[in-house]
Amino acid sequence: MAKRAYEISIDETLCRSCAVCWEICAPDVLGFQPPLNKAIVLTQTDCTGCRLCEWLCPDWAIVVRPLASEVAA
Ligand code: SF4
Ligand code: SF4
Repeated sequence: MAKRAYEISIDETLCRSCAVCWEICAPDVLGFQPPLNKAIVLTQTDCTGCRLCEWLCPDWAIVVRPLASEVAA
């Protein structure tokens, strides 16, 4: 059994540390890096590709793309 893998790109120059993305991400893929609390990717392999972070980021700082390769479940 395999699941699709996703690439998550965060543009830290656009991120304003609002917390929307890591609060909305159910599998806790996203977190933040002190002291500026910019969004970071913690566990990319847990990403379900729901794209809620991309859609809800008020500053369009996140892009989620499916990768061609798949990872083992
Ligand atoms: S939702 Fe966007 S602006 Fe807010 S913390 Fe996440 S990446 Fe930064
Ligand atoms: S696409 Fe969904 S699961 Fe992946 S990082 Fe964004 S909110 Fe989390």
